[in-house]
Amino acid sequence: MSKGQDPRFDLDAFNCPNCGAFAHQWWYRIGAGGDVITARLRGKPAVAAPLLGKKMRYGETVAARDNAYAVRCMYCQSESVWIGGRMILPEGGTGERADPEMPEGVRAVYEEARTIAQKSPRAAAALLRLSVEMLCRELCKVPQGKQVELNEMIKALKEKGRVKGATVEALEMVRVVGNDVVHAGRIDLEEDGSLLEGLFGCVNKVVDDAIGEPKRQESLLQKIPEEERKKMKTK
Ligand SMILES: [Zn+2]
Repeated sequence: MSKGQDPRFDLDAFNCPNCGAFAHQWWYRIGAGGDVITARLRGKPAVAAPLLGKKMRYGETVAARDNAYAVRCMYCQSESVWIGGRMILPEGGTGERADPEMPEGVRAVYEEARTIAQKSPRAAAALLRLSVEMLCRELCKVPQGKQVELNEMIKALKEKGRVKGATVEALEMVRVVGNDVVHAGRIDLEEDGSLLEGLFGCVNKVVDDAIGEPKRQESLLQKIPEEERKKMKTK
């Protein structure tokens, strides 16, 4: 609900990571054989020089890459820097913002995942799994200290009809990727940044479907006269 449009590689208009305004974003290539990457960040000229010559997460140097972009916001004229489809500057911009209905404790872990996502996609995926586990504990009203496996909670929520279809899938994706990065390590989050991006969306989807949507429905229901409400055969 009205979360705005987060910066995304395939869009030319989104909420600017520098000024926050929804504005047209002008993409241009940088770094292809060049030796300096400059960009205006938060209105001030800034040089992304510390990145130059350093090994990037894909094992290449910035100067050698041909998929580095600077993106200028047409509103504030500041820029963000994108490499390999992922925004690297300004920092802390990976992943959707938390759904307004996300419970506080869950949100703290979710935000932690957002801050670490650029440096360590694996750590972010593990934190997202934790956020989903905390969310499921709340939804299932699991008493503090009691150990319950995440897949059992997902199963219980599904059986109670609290989550359905695509939402169950979203939960499972966060669970599976989170497990994999900690144990098996078969999923390469560095290869394709869109998987991790998508996982943030999955957590938000679960929050909206399990908390936001029923809440909106309930407030709508309250607008119906009580007499009529009683006659509704919903439960
Ligand atoms: Zn801007």
